[in-house]
Amino acid sequence: MEAKQDHQEFIFRSKLPDIYIPNHLPLHTYCFENISQFADRPCIINGPTGDVYTYADVELTSRKFAAGLSKLGVQKGDVIMLLLQNCPQFVFAFLGASYIGATSTTANPFYTPAEIAKQAIASKAKIIITQAVYNDKVRDLSEHHGARIVTIDPPPENCLHFSELITQADENEIPAVKINPDDVVALPYSSGTTGLPKGVMLTHRGLVTSVAQQVDGENPNLYLHKEDVILCVLPLFHIYSLNSVLLCALRVGAAILIMQKFEIVKLMELVQKYKVTVAPFVPPIVLAVAKSGDVDKYDMSSIRTVMSGAAPMGKELEDAVRAKLPHAKLGQGYGMTEAGPVLSMCLAFAKEPFEIKSGACGTVVRNAEMKIVHPDTGISLPRNQAGEICIRGAQIMKGYLNDREATETTIDKEGWLHTGDIGYIDDEDELFIVDRLKELIKFKGFQVAPAELEAMLIAHPNISDAAVVPMKDEAAGEVPVAFVVRSNGSKITEDEIKQYISKQVVFYKRINRVFFTDSIPKAPSGKILRKDLRTKLAAGDLRN
Ligand code: AMP
Repeated sequence: MEAKQDHQEFIFRSKLPDIYIPNHLPLHTYCFENISQFADRPCIINGPTGDVYTYADVELTSRKFAAGLSKLGVQKGDVIMLLLQNCPQFVFAFLGASYIGATSTTANPFYTPAEIAKQAIASKAKIIITQAVYNDKVRDLSEHHGARIVTIDPPPENCLHFSELITQADENEIPAVKINPDDVVALPYSSGTTGLPKGVMLTHRGLVTSVAQQVDGENPNLYLHKEDVILCVLPLFHIYSLNSVLLCALRVGAAILIMQKFEIVKLMELVQKYKVTVAPFVPPIVLAVAKSGDVDKYDMSSIRTVMSGAAPMGKELEDAVRAKLPHAKLGQGYGMTEAGPVLSMCLAFAKEPFEIKSGACGTVVRNAEMKIVHPDTGISLPRNQAGEICIRGAQIMKGYLNDREATETTIDKEGWLHTGDIGYIDDEDELFIVDRLKELIKFKGFQVAPAELEAMLIAHPNISDAAVVPMKDEAAGEVPVAFVVRSNGSKITEDEIKQYISKQVVFYKRINRVFFTDSIPKAPSGKILRKDLRTKLAAGDLRN
């Protein structure tokens, strides 16, 4: 990677050469391009049941599901919502939608009905694919917004069974649609650098590019190949797992071991049973492995790679997990939903391995450019100077759904996506993230958008103003805490506020502490001065 001064700009590129990327192909075609080499090999192993689906099975079932969706009236450009824990049907549905040019919006099934409804309505989801136990959460969408509900298990009244769509369809009846590389295939939600969660439009071109940046080309063994068994414990509704686990594995022909949810002992049992080789984690899972007294009871020696991403991982944690898994290489990746998501990854797994530096997030992916800009002036900075990380390349999002203003503040006129993360690039091209400029709070890698909680707080009659900021937490990384100004005469308590919020949000958005204050510090523009509040928190300068 060479830092060059180009029009006064310091632009950084990968240490590896650029590659050819067939990003004119639709995503499913690209993923299955080499399937003839591994059609009979396991593609999905369903951890909870032990069922195995070969690559041929997965391709066929996805095509049947595509035909079934089409019979239901889903057309090119329509949106389906995947409201599922990790399961094989997630894969069939996502790929099936891709075949017919439809878009999958992915959501956390633990969301409250209100959170689900917001996303389903904003994205105009026509079909919701879910589990029968979540039917109560989506009933209103079916009764009042015309969404059809499909469940992967025996369906409640008025719902369809996932398997009906497959058995009643003929895979040769997929309508002949022309898929444009710029058509949107995935629509995860993210709050980005500011405001409420927004639909992130990821295109066929974008996702093909991102997967290729990770696993294709002259130096393909970055971290996955067809003999690998990759653990899929991170939720597929988040782009990290959807892209870097599922899509990358499909492309190379690796076996994907699906766990519905994270349980440390179950995880170790499955690693031992299926000889997992690649383990993509987030720091809280790394912590659980590092702290578990049971690791020595299981044979974990098959793991050759532990990847951590989605949130910062400190040196102590890195060292602790290295001690527990001495056979494995541990590397970090850095992603952001809007960036497609991978911006940089550790190259310890390349044919010519590069040293892993503690705390580094690797180097910028191939076929992309990175620059570090001064947060106030926007001027690009040389090596070893921290500033806002920006990325440019075909992998980044097309924009936010129906939100031109937010798109334009995130992707500038020259095509640079501004991440809101602060970092620097060192003399060996390694990227280090040191801070976050944006509002986002990350609880165990899950997004918490302060604006969403602030809107709820301010809607309470006993609260006149509020601000939500992150507080450091050993287990979660960060938790949301609120600064609250009570309305005149109000005696609302911390517990009442916490309960009021927890009724409305998924568990990780619950407010951990409430600090009452007389006013919220704001700039003349009305923008909350979050940094002041974070400083106050760090200094312990708080009452109650
Ligand atoms: P998401 O869109 O949910 O993937 O969240 C993206 C954000 O997570 C990034 O903009 C960073 O703030 C944070 N993040 C992701 N990977 C890392 C990492 N390896 N180290 C530190 N922060 C990270």
